[in-house]
Parts: sequence; C-alpha cells; structure tokens
Amino acid sequence: MKEPPTIVVIEDDPNIADLVDMYLRQEGFRVIQAEHGEGGLSAVRDQRARMVILDVGLPGGMDGLEVCRRLRAQSDIPVLMLTARDGEIDRVLGLELGADDYVTKPFSPRELVARVKAILRRADGPSRDPGGDVLLAGDVEVDTARREARVGGQVVALAAREFDLLRFLAENPGLALNRQQLLDGVWGADWYGDARTVDVHVRQLRKKLGDALPLATVWGIGYRLG
Ligand code: CA
Repeated sequence: MKEPPTIVVIEDDPNIADLVDMYLRQEGFRVIQAEHGEGGLSAVRDQRARMVILDVGLPGGMDGLEVCRRLRAQSDIPVLMLTARDGEIDRVLGLELGADDYVTKPFSPRELVARVKAILRRADGPSRDPGGDVLLAGDVEVDTARREARVGGQVVALAAREFDLLRFLAENPGLALNRQQLLDGVWGADWYGDARTVDVHVRQLRKKLGDALPLATVWGIGYRLG
C-alpha cells in the first residue's frame, strides 16, 4: 500500500493547527504539527515531508518567512503560507521566499485542502517542458528548457510561478488575456487562487524585467504582451 503523503503544519495557534490537521487527515494525509520554526524544520527533514503549511507569525527567533527561506535554500518542497495580513502577501509570493501559495486568515479549511491538493497535483505532474524552445517576450529570452529568463544575455532570477507566467505570456503574444485566462493557463483550471495572485506575479515580473518586458495593462480586461 502506498504511504500517505506527510504534511508538516508549522503553526503556533493550536486551534488553527488542529483544524487544519483534522481536515487533512480526513483526506488521507499524514500530518505532523510543529509549534515553532526549529521543530518544523527538523520535522520536514526527518519525516520525509511532501509539503509544508507554514504560518508567517511564529514565536521564537524564527518567523515563518525565515523558515520558508531556509526550506527554499535546501529544497523545492511545496510551501503554502498562512498569512494574517494583506501586507505580507507580496513578500510571501515573491522570489525572496518563493512560497507556492498562501491563504489569508481566517480561511475555510475546505479551501485550504483544495489548494493543498492542487499544489501536490502540480508538483507531481509531468514536466511541462518537453521541448527546448527559446521564446521571445519583447527583449526577454524565455528559455523553456533551462527555465531561464535572459535579458541581454544575463539571466534574471525568477520564482517558478513567475517563470510560468512569463512563458504563458510569451506563448500568447499580442492577445489581451484576462486574469481568469492567466489563472487557468498558468496555475491550472482547478486552481483556487484569486485574481490578486495574477497581479502580484505581474508586478514582480515588471519589477525584475523592467522595460525589456513590454507588458501592457488592458483596463477592464487584464494584460497583453507586446
Ligand atoms: Ca501564529
């Protein structure tokens, strides 16, 4: 029999941790709880965790942002962050941390479970890079084989989802794409994220690629490359 996937929940609020724990177990996951960052990091290491659910606000010397940074320094394990404030979202999704997704408290446990499943499906899915094309997005080279964006021959570091968004735009030049189309194309049709996720990633791409990326905002619709 296949071992159930282990999810480490790093959250100091026992009510939230127990609720998440209960819903995940109902779906057949194995759950390990940790109340602070240090314990969470060792649990991820020792329990062969498949995914991490991580609260931003944690007691002790290490908050959730730091825990995510350390996880990212070692592995690609999917991370879903629990945030308490809107202001945390940009940092959580940005390259600085590279979390896969976030939910803002208070959240519905059902939605959380749906997102966990979507993230794991995507992580387990086949590679979407069978070819080896280099696409152009304005002056940005989008190398789909190496998953690299280059401007003037220099690699620009992008988070995984930022690269996926850039690639999707490069595959659909000249089209005004609405946020739902971008969500479906980049995050998948079963993704629960909202339009805000698209805007955050677009903002990051613009910040990192600057004038090299001719990405226009189409008012009332969404975005258009070129
Ligand atoms: Ca907390």
